[in-house]
Amino acid sequence: MKLKNKTNSIFIDGKWHSVDEQDTETVYNPATLEPITEVAYGGKAETEAAIQAASSAFKTWRDMTGRERSRILYKAHELMLEDADRLGEILTTEQGKPLKEAIGEVKGAAGFLLWYAEEASRAYGEWIPSSVKSKRLLVIPQPVGVVGAITPWNFPASMITRKIAPALAAGCAIVLKPAPETPLSAIEIVKILEQAGMPNGVVNLVTGDAEAIGNTMLESKDVRLMTFTGSTDVGKHLMRESADHVKKLSLELGGHAPIVVFDDADIDKAVSLALVSKFRNNGQTCICANRVYVHESVQDAFQEKLTEKVAELKIGDGTEEGVKLGPLINEQALQKVEKHLDNAVKNGAEVICGGDKWNGGLDGYFYQPTVLSNVTDDMLVMNEETFGPIMPVQVFNDEDAVIDKANDTDYGLAAYIFTETTSRAVRVSEKLDYGIVGVNDVTPAVAEAPFGGIKQSGVGKEGGHHGMDEFLEMKYVSMGIDN
Ligand code: NAP
Repeated sequence: MKLKNKTNSIFIDGKWHSVDEQDTETVYNPATLEPITEVAYGGKAETEAAIQAASSAFKTWRDMTGRERSRILYKAHELMLEDADRLGEILTTEQGKPLKEAIGEVKGAAGFLLWYAEEASRAYGEWIPSSVKSKRLLVIPQPVGVVGAITPWNFPASMITRKIAPALAAGCAIVLKPAPETPLSAIEIVKILEQAGMPNGVVNLVTGDAEAIGNTMLESKDVRLMTFTGSTDVGKHLMRESADHVKKLSLELGGHAPIVVFDDADIDKAVSLALVSKFRNNGQTCICANRVYVHESVQDAFQEKLTEKVAELKIGDGTEEGVKLGPLINEQALQKVEKHLDNAVKNGAEVICGGDKWNGGLDGYFYQPTVLSNVTDDMLVMNEETFGPIMPVQVFNDEDAVIDKANDTDYGLAAYIFTETTSRAVRVSEKLDYGIVGVNDVTPAVAEAPFGGIKQSGVGKEGGHHGMDEFLEMKYVSMGIDN
């Protein structure tokens, strides 16, 4: 994929700022470590200008009808789908995931534009029957105001539209800061919105210094809501710093998902699902399985089939046909995976397959898909988000005990159970302390359903009509009338 040496990446009030007049930072291909392009390294001044543009555009955007706003979102959805192959290629080049997964993400990202185009004209209020004859009580949903949005690199397209689409549908204006590893998908999405007819200032993009951009958003009285997807540590920081202006917050944070394979699971299905859950996006998914508990009666069969399938996974540059595992995003990500592996092995884990870096002739951050057995509860891999292709497998024999283990974490994003018994599926789902439970399903993130964690995995929901509620305030109007 050929790109210009420099790419404009700051978009304020409907205008792209020339990257030639700014400090820049380089975007690298994580598979080859080759530079792709340079983007602008903005900070306080650009963010202030973007907030000002958004505040001013908000005044007219909020007054448009939901139907008028939805037309732009429908158009953006159409444009994104038409261009899905090219956008997928850009996504793979900057993020590393296999092309097929990248195109799938782009289509999923477009799905949020469609869903919220439909929702834009359905922000219903309420008419509350009054206990007093001379009163009428109304509840009107209104947009929160200017939104500061900060997104991660692991889903560079869908994490953006999952925020932008409901915010725009609700009538909010936005300032977006994408992750420095993956600004190119963000730039493409903003271009699509521009082409779809988004009025100037409603969507603004600032790439650059995370702290300066984040702090400027936090310090601004005009930014009424911070919507963030990323690590729990940064989420906590934003939460603390939002206190001064009592901003609304919507936080999608880290996870530590357990998979529980019960004795009544369909083992072939369980193996394929576990494979997708752990190795999709190379394990760099907030909802991907971090630890697997398998019932002792099916452990041998599960492990044997799993090892066979893992050995078949092709590693390499995501643009290459048949590749299932691309590179990790950066050096720190690789180091974290190595640290988790070392810690597990030192403490007695057995490496069933993988267990080392992959040296297939590419310079990028590759690691072999790895399965560990004999893991104990005190190991890092059983407690921290690995965000890489290591699957620790532990044996259990009691339903209540495994539920306690699954819940024994500060995280509460997603958990999975594989069982063919309906009663067990319902009973265990209800007892798991997670915002999302997948029953024989490891891809629960869809535009029409509320996605989000509990405990230290976040506050608020993205997706579904619940996702739009985050961007709305309910105003109560009490009217005295003459009878
Ligand atoms: P991260 O380090 O928290 O970064 C996320 C974003 O926050 C980046 O744009 C980053 O920019 C920015 N950031 C960092 N420090 C900041 C600060 N002080 N002020 C303002 N912005 C700041 O997370 P990541 O490594 O990119 O993403 C992986 C994490 O995201 C994992 O924990 C994963 O579980 C979580 N995640 C959660 C969900 C969900 O839906 N719950 C979905 C996807 C990912 P810089 O890189 O420039 O610092």
